[in-house]
Amino acid sequence: MTDPTENTPPPATRTHALERLRRFVPIAGRDYAARRNYDLGSQGHPDVSGLSPYLRHRLITEPEVIAAVLGRHSASTAEKFVQEVVWRTYWKGWLEMRPQVWADYRQGLSRVLNDGRHDDRLAAASAGQSGIDCFDAWMGELVTTGYLHNHARMWMASIWIFTLRLPWEAGADLFMRHLLDGDPASNTLSWRWVAGLQTQGKHYIARPDNITRYTEGRFAPKGLVTDAAPLSGPPHPPRRPLPADARPDPGLPTGILLTEEDLSPGFLFDDAQGPILGHAGLMSVAGRSPLPVADPVTAFTRDAMMDARARWSGRMGAPGPLSDDPAVIAAWAVELGLGQIVTPYAPTGPTMKALNMLEAMLSEVGITLIRRIRSYDQAAWPHATAGFFRFKEHIPALLGDILPDSVDKL
Ligand SMILES: Cc1cc2nc3c(=O)[nH]c(=O)nc-3n(C[C@H](O)[C@H](O)[C@H](O)COP(=O)(O)OP(=O)(O)OC[C@H]3O[C@@H](n4cnc5c(N)ncnc54)[C@H](O)[C@@H]3O)c2cc1C
Repeated sequence: MTDPTENTPPPATRTHALERLRRFVPIAGRDYAARRNYDLGSQGHPDVSGLSPYLRHRLITEPEVIAAVLGRHSASTAEKFVQEVVWRTYWKGWLEMRPQVWADYRQGLSRVLNDGRHDDRLAAASAGQSGIDCFDAWMGELVTTGYLHNHARMWMASIWIFTLRLPWEAGADLFMRHLLDGDPASNTLSWRWVAGLQTQGKHYIARPDNITRYTEGRFAPKGLVTDAAPLSGPPHPPRRPLPADARPDPGLPTGILLTEEDLSPGFLFDDAQGPILGHAGLMSVAGRSPLPVADPVTAFTRDAMMDARARWSGRMGAPGPLSDDPAVIAAWAVELGLGQIVTPYAPTGPTMKALNMLEAMLSEVGITLIRRIRSYDQAAWPHATAGFFRFKEHIPALLGDILPDSVDKL
């Protein structure tokens, strides 16, 4: 849900997220179910929440959003919305058990960027000069606002892959560089789903009549390819076991490390841990792509981090560095005399990579990195073994078990 006059990225604060949620809750039931597929462009997106940049960085959390909606609507009335929020959870759990899919995507992307075969057409499509009016308009919206409606993402990805015949990895990367909510799991797996690689053999074809209907006549594209075969790829890699939650040592001097994966660190303070001496922030936004990430994305992520640091400063000890270099964080930990650093678990992606580097540096100086996994993620991720339709059968139990507990601790 955006203000129609809002064509610059929104403020990266929890206050703004809560205000968005407050405005959205009344329409999260039947209205959302009926209208969520409409992409009304310059009228803003009045039928959806626009909460994804906030959920992506957990300035606001999934249980919190679901609880607010269920406080106003019955579970059956809000079923569609709850399911959409839980898609995010499903993708995170699915990738967490198959991190190789992210590594393969990044390798495929490197190949595409290095071989240069598509350079001219890639440059034209990325500049919004494909010659397909709806596609070019969405590209402009993406670059200007850092947001696209879900249906526009599906149509764009489909046109990119099946009409423009461009490599899906380059399209996914373009999204990662420009979306404020750019997320390794939701983005990579959604592009794979459109291509026919995720649910193998089933792809998503953008149809002109569907675009015309759900844009209320804004576009009537001609010349879209509607009879292409799905892309083919290797079978899914075997699942690895999910990581276990780590517990802090109550006897050790402790530092808190925030990352852009989870900026609601309240759950870290559940357990007894040693005295908290200070806090730092590790930024990994530049690692979302091998190419430069758009300035608004970097600014949004940095501002979200600053907002969390300010909100939680009273619980986290002395402020330390905000850096994208794990070595700076390791040096801070040594200087402060820390025995452990406690941080929210960062799922597969650039932040996890940076934390792995930090962990190796810390272990050389006898400091442990404790990665805490939220109870919501612990409860949900193990069910992401197959497709979403199997996963969603667990939603009632997930809400019953986890929701009141998680929400109390936010
Ligand atoms: C090709 C493609 C790429 C995408 N890339 C991303 C991405 O990088 N990051 C991202 O957060 N979402 C991604 N999505 C999913 C979805 O498009 C966005 O989450 C949604 O459009 C965000 O708008 P909203 O907050 O107004 O959604 P709402 O309809 O209000 O939904 C509420 C919340 O549910 C979650 N959600 C809704 N739909 C989906 C979905 N299909 N998959 C996963 N989560 C969902 C989001 O967190 C969203 O904020 C992608 C979808 C496609 C088809």
